[in-house]
Amino acid sequence: GQKNYSFMLRTKNPCGKVPNQLYLAMDTLADEFGIGTLRLTTRQTFQLHGVIKKNLKTVIGTVIKNMGSTLGACGDLNRNVLAPAAPYVRKDILFAQETAENIAVLLTPQSGAYYDLWVDGEKIMSAEEPPEVTKARDDNTHGTNFPDSPEPIYGTQYLPRKFKIAVTVAGDNSVDILTNDIGVVVVSDSEGEPAGFNIYVGGGMGRTHRVETTFPDWLIHWVMFLRKIYFEKYYGKKFEDSHPLPQWQFNSYLGWQEQGDGKLFYGVHIDNGRVGGQAKKTLREIIEKYNLDVSITPNQNLILCGINQAWKDPITAALAQAGLLDPKDVDPLNLTSMACPALPLCPLAQTEAERGILPILKRIRAVFDKVGIKDHESVVVRITGCPNGCARPYMAEVGFVGDGPNSYQIWLGGTPNQSTLAESFMNKVKLQDIEKVLEPLFSYWNSARQDGESFGTFTCRTGFDKLKEVVDKWGESAS
Ligand code: SF4
Repeated sequence: GQKNYSFMLRTKNPCGKVPNQLYLAMDTLADEFGIGTLRLTTRQTFQLHGVIKKNLKTVIGTVIKNMGSTLGACGDLNRNVLAPAAPYVRKDILFAQETAENIAVLLTPQSGAYYDLWVDGEKIMSAEEPPEVTKARDDNTHGTNFPDSPEPIYGTQYLPRKFKIAVTVAGDNSVDILTNDIGVVVVSDSEGEPAGFNIYVGGGMGRTHRVETTFPDWLIHWVMFLRKIYFEKYYGKKFEDSHPLPQWQFNSYLGWQEQGDGKLFYGVHIDNGRVGGQAKKTLREIIEKYNLDVSITPNQNLILCGINQAWKDPITAALAQAGLLDPKDVDPLNLTSMACPALPLCPLAQTEAERGILPILKRIRAVFDKVGIKDHESVVVRITGCPNGCARPYMAEVGFVGDGPNSYQIWLGGTPNQSTLAESFMNKVKLQDIEKVLEPLFSYWNSARQDGESFGTFTCRTGFDKLKEVVDKWGESAS
């Protein structure tokens, strides 16, 4: 008989903006056609898991009718464009969000033939390809430079792989700017007026185990090479030097904050971005009752926007009752951690990520307690089920990258503000053995760190040779 294909559908929401109507529609779709949960992703979008084939048309139609889109959310083209999710009424933030939206429009496929759907790990395209697209593909042998085609930018080949762009403002690294193929930073003048952009190229997280040419920064090489000979020619003038920027900060936007227009926003911490159960019910009730727009952060959290002062107390009470704790009462390990969906939802997963991360964070906290690290201390932990790196593990202080059943490669060396690329420290560490690696490392950090030094900075300063020696010695003395 025919296989009952189950699909994952991902929306496109530049800068994570979700109008009230779209949130409510997604919430209903998850119950009626999905698995009863909504997933907020690391690219500020929704994923709806478990949609069966016969319901696809209804689901996509409903998303589009409710001001949403799925176009260009997956596949080898420009992915959802990130920008700071906070609804601050501030010139530079608004300009960054507008720029993200403009880039998204510019790079949206034009033909309308593209369906962002996956079946058993394979991308599918709609069968209703317009004749001009077919002709353009047949005529084109290079896949680029396509002025007369319905896809003037992509041609018919789209891109060699997925492509990621983020926009932000100076200092705000809520978007993990350096992990993107193109990072655009709004630079303001002394009056606070947006005056231009610093542009970074060459990030990107996808890699393949044991293929070093697919190291996350591979793109930088050809981009740097092309830059002089191509970009400046295309642009018609020389680029100015980039402006010096302040240190990057990780901004989570959690808790209550002023928007700057008299209203408030509240950033709700959601473990792994998985909205389900009572939390889902309560969020819907609040969003519906107060007619709130929301925003999805690149750290898989949800911001409730445009809240009147008078609603603050009832909203706080309702969230607490649903178990959506004040971020001050959440273990800081949970606040900065991320995991991709992995098993059983992603066909590429080699092992657990989302389903496994909460117990792993508890085990890390237990190791902290054992070696004497205090409750307010934390490290950025990110876990993915395969080297594709959807939860950006290569910028984590401790990254777990699935490399077999119940087994992970451990990456170290990222920093709390995501400004340094981590490096692979050990391969094939079995899930049950992670303490054998982490306990000696955390113990050593606790005894040898400089004042206030983060774990990531400590591991970089110490070097992997020394750290490996510490782990080996610990193993010998334990056996
Ligand atoms: Fe799937 Fe791998 Fe991405 Fe996780 S990192 S969601 S396992 S492709």
